[in-house]
Amino acid sequence: MSIRLIAKKGSTFHDFPYSHPERKCFHCWIINVTPPGPNQCLHDCVYCYAREAIYSNYSEDTLIYNNLPELVEKDLKRLTLCPPISLSNVSDPCQDIPELKREVKRLIQLLMDYGVSFFVTTKGDPSFFLELPGFIEYKPKFIAITIEGTPEVLQLLSPRAPSFHDRVATASKLSNLGIDIVIRLDPVFIHLFQALYGDSWFERIAGLLDVFAATGARHITASTGRLSKKRSPSASHPDVSGWQRLYKVIYSQSPLAAEKFEHEYIYEPHWSGGGYRLRHDLRLGFHRKVRELVEAKGMTYATCQELPAKESDSAGIPHCEGLPLPFAQKQADGSFKPVPGCTANCHVSCRGLSRPPCGRADLVSFEPLRLRNLRFGSSRNFQADQSK
Ligand code: SF4
Ligand code: SF4
Repeated sequence: MSIRLIAKKGSTFHDFPYSHPERKCFHCWIINVTPPGPNQCLHDCVYCYAREAIYSNYSEDTLIYNNLPELVEKDLKRLTLCPPISLSNVSDPCQDIPELKREVKRLIQLLMDYGVSFFVTTKGDPSFFLELPGFIEYKPKFIAITIEGTPEVLQLLSPRAPSFHDRVATASKLSNLGIDIVIRLDPVFIHLFQALYGDSWFERIAGLLDVFAATGARHITASTGRLSKKRSPSASHPDVSGWQRLYKVIYSQSPLAAEKFEHEYIYEPHWSGGGYRLRHDLRLGFHRKVRELVEAKGMTYATCQELPAKESDSAGIPHCEGLPLPFAQKQADGSFKPVPGCTANCHVSCRGLSRPPCGRADLVSFEPLRLRNLRFGSSRNFQADQSK
């Protein structure tokens, strides 16, 4: 397998695709730094479904986009309001691949030059961003480090990604420098914890939270995962579903825990897509217990998609990612400035407002954002507000 740089065609602009009143994800501009596909993320996590997206590219090479800053700049020039940018949702943007790091660094530099909000989710080490002058101080941004369990759990679920120790060290290092850090305890498979630690499994979760708090992280986002029983077309996991892959891992540690997993992960239709999820009462009980511990350590807590915010999330946070990442407004010189008071969680935070902080009442919606709605002259309402 070799690394191949390719040009992306067309705009990168897309939001989370959820068009539902219960949508929980805030609005953002997702920029994927590679196409989806199994060879684009070398971490090869057991539970990964991001790499098996509908438009996956099953190339034998690892494909990396080499024209993102140029494409993104074209759109930035046309926008009046820029949503926060999420990097990258189908592959880890901080894999230890020099070509990838070079391209991601170019992109981050562009986002900083334009002054827009962004966040990066990774299991890798984003320290190469520190080579960019002003990266540490730049706001609004944060780094989310995924740590889905103890060292033993990570050995079983994501053995090709950096180790537990490395991920914790990265979170501490960046946080000590003053960079806002979120930890994603996601996905946490309680039956694997039960298989490894028996009756003391929850104590191991509590122990993890101590470690996370000690890194200086400000917020934890967690989920108990969503699994599919559809067979994978991927060459690395032929004819095996994500559910089966996980079942096998749990079974290898405890057939009894695997049996429990089989009974307690139940198919559930959902606004974010159907799949096998931890039974609702178990999920709710787990998250509430964890939230209590997290808040006692001075951090905030949220669940990713799988429970409504009012049932599981800390009060007062802007959205499940925890830290503020506002839309940014175009200035006369073409750069952007954060919109004070904007959470990017439009249909929740600005519900009922005829004049939301961005001046765009038409954005108060759960519908995914479209580029055309954010361009110059895209709203009569906006034009009227600007003339006041
Ligand atoms: S790091 Fe993320 S995208 Fe990469 S294999 Fe793991 S879960 Fe999938
Ligand atoms: S101010 Fe409100 S409506 Fe406007 S972008 Fe921000 S969250 Fe959405």
